[in-house]
Amino acid sequence: MIDTSIITTPETAFAVLPEAYYLRNVRLETGFVHERKSWLSQPVITHTRTELKTLHIAAAKIAAILDADAVIPSGAAVHDAQGQLMLPTFRDMHIHLDKSFYGGPWEASLPTEHSIADRIAQERALLSGLLPVAQERTAAMVRLMQSRGTTICRTHCNVDPVSKLGNLEHLKASLERVKDTLEAEIIVFPQHGLLASDSVGLVREALASGGVGYLGGVDPTSFDKDMEKSLDTTVALALEFGVGLDIHFHEGREAAVPTFLRLMGHMEQNPQLRGNVTFSHAFALAELSAPELADMVARMRALGVTLATAVPLGRQAMPLREIHEAGVDVICGTDSVIDWWDSFGNCDMLQKANEIARLQYRSTEFDLSRSLGYATGFVTPLDDGGVQVWPKVGDDASFNLLPASCSAEAVARLPARGAVFHKGRLAHAGRETSLAG
Ligand SMILES: [Zn+2]
Repeated sequence: MIDTSIITTPETAFAVLPEAYYLRNVRLETGFVHERKSWLSQPVITHTRTELKTLHIAAAKIAAILDADAVIPSGAAVHDAQGQLMLPTFRDMHIHLDKSFYGGPWEASLPTEHSIADRIAQERALLSGLLPVAQERTAAMVRLMQSRGTTICRTHCNVDPVSKLGNLEHLKASLERVKDTLEAEIIVFPQHGLLASDSVGLVREALASGGVGYLGGVDPTSFDKDMEKSLDTTVALALEFGVGLDIHFHEGREAAVPTFLRLMGHMEQNPQLRGNVTFSHAFALAELSAPELADMVARMRALGVTLATAVPLGRQAMPLREIHEAGVDVICGTDSVIDWWDSFGNCDMLQKANEIARLQYRSTEFDLSRSLGYATGFVTPLDDGGVQVWPKVGDDASFNLLPASCSAEAVARLPARGAVFHKGRLAHAGRETSLAG
């Protein structure tokens, strides 16, 4: 008998699946449908072809992809995906899981008179009060994130004179509890300025504590008032502790471009940094002319610089498509989740893909299908030529099941995630976690 309850009712959302089981009626994409239209000179992609399959999941991997009517050994655990589409797990690659209003009473972000300085002043007043609830806030954000289909993330974590290493200790403990269903990398983030808040010692202590993948930073010109010294110190710390860099850059082009160039100069001198540096936000890229952007992006690509974006809406839209198509890794993230920096943030990476699609792509089957990659780290069921490239036997069993007929429909219509799996384990099933916390 097929037990469907495990992926269809919220009561069993966190039921533990066995090490090995079968998933029936899983919808996989198998190719694009091309059609000739009388009013168009060339055939066009009109739909995506799918097939129902049976998957065997074992030891955290996709162990076999079988026909829909495959005979399942008697006694094996079987669950019914009910024809839902299977998509790769989503990745939230810029989030702050250590601090939020989410999970507590509603508070909108305050108006500012001195922009970021006011936010930092507010943060200084808030941080110590948040430490006692830090782990429950993180747990709430993780539930929200997983309910929207994300099981891989990279999170910043404050290291500052107010919370000192408190946020980091809480974050590590929180992530340890969910390590079976969430793969997380931590960025040590001197939010109040590495030099401005005299945090070099704290950062050194944080990096030495282990379990950290990256050192962060923020606007070295406006925060630390000494871009060269700030950047050089940051790079020296990253080299000393063997971590990558992921730095917030919100500044305009006058401050940001020399900063980008200096950081890339460090990458030229230190090959171990290549492929291990992320520019977060980098709004200044939207201010460059097309030839300037092409030069900058070519250099970023050559050195393996990644761009992390929360897909800002309004004013100057980031040229994310151009940057991606020029060969730079573009990763997406939520950034703030309903905190004093921003009242929005819902952890929905499929929505980020939808927003990029609306900003920069056509709403065709093909373009929507390609836009899915912004949510999945560009792991997509089909490649650009329509060849099925995911899932393959041996891949991690980390995926979403959702009620959509294909990737394009999922990106356009943002269906609720039916069930979310990480390495074979159920990370979420049933109703979406409410944004109201
Ligand atoms: Zn951020």
